[in-house]
Amino acid sequence: MSEMDDLLALQEVDLVILRASKRLEGLPQREAILANRKKQAEVDAKAAQVKALKDQCEAKLEDLQTRDAQLAAKIDETQALINEADDFRTVDDLTEDLVRAVKAREKVDFELTSQLELMDRIEGTSRQVEQASQQLKAKELELANSFKQEVLDLRAKVAQAQESRKQLLERISPDLLRRYESVKTSKGGIAVAVNLGDRCSVCNVTFQEGQRINLQRGPAIATCPSCGRLLLRRDGKLG
Ligand SMILES: [Zn+2]
Repeated sequence: MSEMDDLLALQEVDLVILRASKRLEGLPQREAILANRKKQAEVDAKAAQVKALKDQCEAKLEDLQTRDAQLAAKIDETQALINEADDFRTVDDLTEDLVRAVKAREKVDFELTSQLELMDRIEGTSRQVEQASQQLKAKELELANSFKQEVLDLRAKVAQAQESRKQLLERISPDLLRRYESVKTSKGGIAVAVNLGDRCSVCNVTFQEGQRINLQRGPAIATCPSCGRLLLRRDGKLG
């Protein structure tokens, strides 16, 4: 390879390193993981809310079931007393008790039904919340894996490019390297251009006649009169 080829290859590996480092700094999975965690926190808060409602409903159901059993026992007991009673007053009083207990039990049963319906709805919501939470957890895992994999890939790419760079540096003369590094710094990465006929491949400016003559007569690695990049005279005549 000629020194010009080496210089172009050096620019290629430097761009690979630059792009990979920029990509590493701004990997989109980072933002996505943060957004996912925010959603997870919202879902967790909702789950806690649903759990509190469920506990409340369970306590109420337990209480109603106890009262229902107590009233059922009271009804049986009163009925037995009525069966055994032999005077009208006692039967009358006991019947009043019985009616009260039956009415109270009807009320408790009505409340029980509505609490059971409420529990059904709470359990439905609870399942939805759990499902959302599972989906977010799966998403987080997927993002974390993709992040890890991409970091590994990019680091491998950078390491490989740096190895190529080391070999190229041994072949390029120190003076040319100094020129390359200095232009690279001032031009934000791209230091080398080639001529496309009578134009610079990077700044795209057409050389004027006097510049063309100078470039034609000058060294094969010149300087673009317009952007100041190293200009490799490669592509045919300068015009
Ligand atoms: Zn240029």
